[in-house]
Amino acid sequence: MARLESRRPALTLDTEVTYLKGVGPVRAQHFARLGIRTAGDLLRHVPHRYEDASTVQPIRSLSPGMEATVLGRVISKGILPTRKGLRVFSAVLKDDTGMIEASWPGQAYLDRTIQKGDLLLAAGPVRFFHGRQLVPREFVNLGADDTGTAGGRVLAVYPATEGLSFKVIRGLVEQHLPVLLPLVHEYLPPAVLAEAGVPPLPEALRLVHRPSSVAEAMTGRSRLAFEELLFVQILHRRAKALAREPREGRAFENRRDLTAKLKASLPFELTGAQARAVREIVADMTSPHRMHRLLQGDVGSGKTVVGLFAAMLAMENGWQVAFMAPTELLAEQHVRTATRLLAPLGLAPVLLTGSLGARVRREAEAVMADPAPALVIGTHALVSDRARFAKLGLVIVDEQHRFGVEQRAALGGKGDRPDVLLMSATPIPRSLALTLYGDLDLSVLDERPPGRQPITTALRAGTARGRVLDFVRRQVEAGRQAYVVYPVIAESEKTDLKAATTMYEQLAAGELAGLRVALLHGRLKGDEKDDIMRRFLAGTVDVLVATTVIEVGIDVPNATVMVIEHPERFGLSQLHQLRGRVGRGAEQSYCILLGDVSPETAERLRVFVESEDGFEIARADLAQRGMGDLFGDRQSGMPGFRIADPLRDEALNAAAGIAADRILAADPALERKEHLALRRTLTTQFQRGLELFRVG
Ligand code: ADP
Ligand code: MG
Repeated sequence: MARLESRRPALTLDTEVTYLKGVGPVRAQHFARLGIRTAGDLLRHVPHRYEDASTVQPIRSLSPGMEATVLGRVISKGILPTRKGLRVFSAVLKDDTGMIEASWPGQAYLDRTIQKGDLLLAAGPVRFFHGRQLVPREFVNLGADDTGTAGGRVLAVYPATEGLSFKVIRGLVEQHLPVLLPLVHEYLPPAVLAEAGVPPLPEALRLVHRPSSVAEAMTGRSRLAFEELLFVQILHRRAKALAREPREGRAFENRRDLTAKLKASLPFELTGAQARAVREIVADMTSPHRMHRLLQGDVGSGKTVVGLFAAMLAMENGWQVAFMAPTELLAEQHVRTATRLLAPLGLAPVLLTGSLGARVRREAEAVMADPAPALVIGTHALVSDRARFAKLGLVIVDEQHRFGVEQRAALGGKGDRPDVLLMSATPIPRSLALTLYGDLDLSVLDERPPGRQPITTALRAGTARGRVLDFVRRQVEAGRQAYVVYPVIAESEKTDLKAATTMYEQLAAGELAGLRVALLHGRLKGDEKDDIMRRFLAGTVDVLVATTVIEVGIDVPNATVMVIEHPERFGLSQLHQLRGRVGRGAEQSYCILLGDVSPETAERLRVFVESEDGFEIARADLAQRGMGDLFGDRQSGMPGFRIADPLRDEALNAAAGIAADRILAADPALERKEHLALRRTLTTQFQRGLELFRVG
């Protein structure tokens, strides 16, 4: 008789990391923070640097003025205060040849992570300070149990995160590599690889994870970089090819009726950039081609009003406009803005969201069913089956990257080839935008409305919490308002993150007692959220404790302070979006990142602290996290450069360009058998891929 065995499901690259031996739910949560959800993701989690232990110098040989790499055990350590009040973490490192003091100014928190007996690999300048002293620029803590890193081995250092050290990651990769690697198959045509001179994927992954020399690691890396560059080149070429295909649409007439009235009644002058964008849009809409334009502008650059001009042009020609926003809060705010700005024209927008009462919803649907000109502002409720437009001529999608391809296409499908205006506050460098959106025309708002002051931004340690909250209180007493943002809504046993709900209670009863504090997060009902926002807008709430639900679009000029706790949990672009909620009025505004972060995180955040240039921040974000993350969701994002650097990898990039040309010249829609695997990768991994290589 056959024996019944309880069998585990076979391991695949899609198996969630939590089921891997040695991971489990807690580590899986930490992994998720690194964008790693599946075994395949872990395999693709590539070391961001290699420490070549063969270059380690004997401690005795160090002298002031040198750049040195040492491998030493901590034999004593402590925190030393300096006269200037700076706290310095200091440790004495010892190897077989001698001892040296290593010193980390301003990084007292290292006292918690570095223990006596730990083996450190540290690199940095040696200076003269009461004798020789090493000031590590970089270091890796190999722990107390590590004995044999020396001897010419190359040490792979993985991007890590709080709660998940690079050592643990390295151990898990080592453990699972033998089982995972055989699951990986090359999907690029062999001729393409041969021509680019890069190894096949399984080999490349083996080399990056377990190189026997740095050169080997770089060879492996070249395959992964090539793939990224190839994806971008293919999408770019495909987008450009599609752009050349005629797009039939309708030509509106520039009647200068509603548009002129809007211009005359606006409470401000358009910026030069806004005026240019409006002109570009008018040119598109009055041409017989279907408009397909992306309006890009940093937070606060004034995209909404540009959208309203487009809407007025469609309406003065007798057409309806659908204006879609990613959240109810934002749709409601757009309705308020449009109501205010269009009142002098005798027009009022209509709101359509999922949480409308049955009667109000029926009223909105009646407006849509009537062919008279109308501006309907809403959420994705606009693409539901029930939403039918009688005469839709223009579609505007705000924060376009927050919608799926299908949702955007569905909204376009609500009319007979309506013009399309996409708006995005995610500033990506122009060249990259052209690369990835070659099928769209691009308008850029690169100018801010006048009269805005720079926002003072700082990173403060947890010890400064009292002082920071005191500052919030003083600002409120001076008549201002503030946001305090947390990464999560509720506390969980698995993480020790401060959460909005608990902190709201603590702050309201403690540090901010006596102030009018309110709580805002995504799990509140639409009308509750709306109510709280309305109170904040009206100034009857002083401090809004919130999650990133306030990230998009909220506009309260009297708010001058943005405190963000656990800044390590946010991406640079997301922080920039949050900071954009203040600095909207005439008063000096402040953005304070509050928390004890690792030196790596502090370094990552530095670009944000030092710059207010959304493009510069986006570029750094791109380099740090890859394009997909920049767009919120790695799975639906666009390919980016996690590994490749188009400048440094110039030769590879050129090879990728040639390969892309060759592939697409023979097979523009990637329909041939030898390209099906490539097409599957492009369309499942990247929204843009899906958009550009849709079947049918
Ligand atoms: P975003 O581009 O982030 O969507 P908004 O459209 O919300 O920006 O505009 C931000 C704020 O700037 C709003 O209060 C808006 O009324 C104001 N604004 C827009 N254009 C101008 C302008 N040309 N001059 C002065 N204020 C403007
Ligand atoms: Mg906006």
